[in-house]
Amino acid sequence: MSVVKKFSVPRGTCDTLPSEIHQWHHIENTARRLFSVYGYREVRTPYFEETGLFARSLGQTSDVVQKQMLNLFFSAKEEGENRPQNKSRDDQPTAGLSLRPEATASIVRSYIENSFHKKESLSKFYYIGPMFRGERPQKGRLRQFHQIGVEAIGPDSSSPYLDAEVIALSVQLLNDFGLTGFQLKINSLGSPEDKKKLSDVLRAALQKDLAKLCPDCQNRFERNVFRILDCKNLECKTIVSQLKRTESHLSKSSQAYFSEVKDALTILNVPFEVSPYLVRGLDYYTHTVFEISHSSLGSQDALGAGGRYNSLLTDLGADAEDSIGAIGFALGIERILLVRNSQIQDTTPSHMDVFIVTLDPQGRQDAFTTGFKILREVRSKGISAEMNYARASLKSQMRLADKLGARYVVIIGENELKEQMAVLKDMEQSLQDKIQFNKISTSLKEKLKG
Ligand code: AMP
Repeated sequence: MSVVKKFSVPRGTCDTLPSEIHQWHHIENTARRLFSVYGYREVRTPYFEETGLFARSLGQTSDVVQKQMLNLFFSAKEEGENRPQNKSRDDQPTAGLSLRPEATASIVRSYIENSFHKKESLSKFYYIGPMFRGERPQKGRLRQFHQIGVEAIGPDSSSPYLDAEVIALSVQLLNDFGLTGFQLKINSLGSPEDKKKLSDVLRAALQKDLAKLCPDCQNRFERNVFRILDCKNLECKTIVSQLKRTESHLSKSSQAYFSEVKDALTILNVPFEVSPYLVRGLDYYTHTVFEISHSSLGSQDALGAGGRYNSLLTDLGADAEDSIGAIGFALGIERILLVRNSQIQDTTPSHMDVFIVTLDPQGRQDAFTTGFKILREVRSKGISAEMNYARASLKSQMRLADKLGARYVVIIGENELKEQMAVLKDMEQSLQDKIQFNKISTSLKEKLKG
């Protein structure tokens, strides 16, 4: 006998089952409500883009581009030119298409492509959707995960008050999701010139410990020293934690900008901690960067992160003269749910307005077809309704009604057919009544209103 292969969900992905979906709806609905209050509008970009877009925006040396891009292959001949040209680790493909590892690059691409800067001085976008990274899966680290994020882009974006608004919005989202105990850290990388200075400061500070760093970080030392600060290796973390605090890389104007961000956060009552070595793993950040973490998450403790990325606009082809700035953040839904589930027990009981029970003698189906018609009628009035097509016993139909959380049960048997009146049971109040078939839907509508 041949054994039929059973398929499993791919590694690093998961099914969201109906029993869990209410939590996702809660997160998504809460976010959409708050975004509209703050004036953010939804934008949906494709799940894949040209690989070069990500390579250019995230930086060729970022871990995401070097190790985590999921490239797409098309078999059609005419897609030949979209095949990656090479796949060596150090020189990742820039031709071809890849699943999006994050949304910022796509949104900036779309912003430029649709010339938003000509239509409005500040565009406030939000998105909710899946992202894809070829990571080694572990708790809180998936290959397909979901982010909620915003991007505020435009010639009017470069205000410290907008930085504070965006940070405050991310914190309010987490509060509104019902989370407590998270921690906000902020820092300023300064302008691109300041950032260059910071990398020199870091190299000088790390030089003496270079040999003790992990092989990856020894590589990063020359290529992108900032990434050493994000390394999860214990030895590297210890070395990083001993670095002295510094704001010496910041120019006067960058320092003034950062002070205004901090003051604005204080006005908004948002508690924060300045973390001088918070740098974020991606190349495009300048000035304000922030991260929100929760200690209960273990090694993957970031709930979300964001920052300002003014230079990305010109990197992706915007005219420097238009001086378009941008700031945004992304929160990870799976991690939000990990924390939320450890803090809140909210099992939403299932609910159904009405369950229709039908009982026919052997070989007949008059009650069943009458019930079937009534089912359609009540549903057409917007009342949620169900019946059992398997024609089970009264007992098992009642059990099913109970399991579905039916508020009312309509029972139709031989007697009811004769009288053209059904039994209507109020399951909450344990009351029972009779009701004419042709009045069932209007009467239920009335009762359910109350
Ligand atoms: P990043 O774009 O890497 O700054 O990620 C922003 C947020 O997305 C993180 O703080 C996480 O909450 C979430 N996130 C990033 N990568 C993953 C992943 N592989 N699995 C689950 N969540 C992730």
